[in-house]
Amino acid sequence: MNTDFEELYQQVILDHSKRPRNYGTLEEPAIHVDGDNPSCGDEIHLHVRFGAGGEVEDLKFTGVGCAISQASASLMTLKVKGKSRTESQALLEAFTDVVTSGSQEPPKMLGDLRLLSGVRNFPQRVKCAMLAWRAFEQAMQEAQTGPVQASESGPHCS
Ligand code: ZN
Repeated sequence: MNTDFEELYQQVILDHSKRPRNYGTLEEPAIHVDGDNPSCGDEIHLHVRFGAGGEVEDLKFTGVGCAISQASASLMTLKVKGKSRTESQALLEAFTDVVTSGSQEPPKMLGDLRLLSGVRNFPQRVKCAMLAWRAFEQAMQEAQTGPVQASESGPHCS
């Protein structure tokens, strides 16, 4: 990591964690997904409204937790808002690749999200960076198939 990169990383992460964009909730009809990361205490509550063609009409989140989890959520909402299903799926896959395997240069389409590529060296932080994206992935699934039923994989534990 060179110094310029580190400086920019600090600036962007701090800015987004202190002043998160698209912070709040959406009126119905919207899909609501809660995500949490127990190891770090991060929580994300994501609301997404999809259009008839599966495009991301609007999305907002609330949450608490570390700077990386909140900044990643804020950056994600800016990036996927208004995108088609295919485009948002591609962003999800590209970001997942960058923070998990990240063998290649992060693609330009990720914009400032590329700054989070450094978390790949810190397995605990990968979960923080991915939290909002996992919630978004689940929202996309629910948009297609309806709410994910836990009972599909067997009866609930009691
Ligand atoms: Zn965290």
